[in-house]
Amino acid sequence: MQIIDMHCDTLLECYQKNYGLRRNTGHVDLLRMKDAGALAQFFAIYLPMDDNLTPYRLFQEIYNVYMRELAANSDLIAPAISYDDILIHDREGRMSAVLSVEDGHLLAGKLERLDELYDKGVRLMTLLWCRENCIGFPDSLKREEHRLGLKPFGFDVIEKMNQLGMIIDVSHLSEGGFYDVAAHSKKPFVASHSCARSLCGHSRNLSDEQLRCISEKGGVVGVNYNSYFLREGSDFSSMEDILLHVDYLINLMGVDSVALGSDFDGIECRMEMRGYGQYQRLVEQLERRYPAETAEKICCKNVLRMMKECCD
Ligand SMILES: [Zn+2]
Repeated sequence: MQIIDMHCDTLLECYQKNYGLRRNTGHVDLLRMKDAGALAQFFAIYLPMDDNLTPYRLFQEIYNVYMRELAANSDLIAPAISYDDILIHDREGRMSAVLSVEDGHLLAGKLERLDELYDKGVRLMTLLWCRENCIGFPDSLKREEHRLGLKPFGFDVIEKMNQLGMIIDVSHLSEGGFYDVAAHSKKPFVASHSCARSLCGHSRNLSDEQLRCISEKGGVVGVNYNSYFLREGSDFSSMEDILLHVDYLINLMGVDSVALGSDFDGIECRMEMRGYGQYQRLVEQLERRYPAETAEKICCKNVLRMMKECCD
């Protein structure tokens, strides 16, 4: 069974710890990905606040690391900017890297920067992270904050991402912003690393209504393996809890909208699945729980379908 995982923060680890993608001590490296049967990994350029660099400069620094690592490991992996690329690399016996950006604050209100990101191969952008930016507002425990919608620039960003063929990611976004995306996006959109709020009442998680909305629009939700989003008050991420969220999403959204979005290398809790080394164990559990066709949709086919609809 092949795997597409929609979110990891591994590139920031490579940049900060100055280690490589091929083999490392984090959650994700290319040799373990290959062993696990990875078809593609979305590599986020996550952009925390930095005292010395603007988000835009930090993006460029981490992008250089990404390009260096892909060049050094072209026997194993190649950058994919389309659905077809992933299939071509697979036929060549190589995995695919899909580049994404976490936190649109690097746009700094400049729409033309989206063109530059697209030209560099970015095919998904998480609109924001845990703080307000030029696009909108983050999820919040306070109802009135959670209701805040997109800013005027945010609507321009949605339209431009649709035009370019860049996937819109609403993980971390306020509910008000979420429904603005749902109403204005002409293409499916995703929550690349989020779970079900009915199972775990974290404001980062999605309500049943939001989940239904994503599936009605043809989007997908990647289940996040962070314990804080899996089980309230837990600091241990168990495989069983991941599977419970998958079950819940399948029941609510149907078989075409559920995917995997580990958040590897962005998680600090204790984990049963400590990275790609254990990924096949999760896949085996999914194969035991679901018909083969459904398990394959969860593991990779749903993301492939969505990518074809959004990026082609
Ligand atoms: Zn995140």
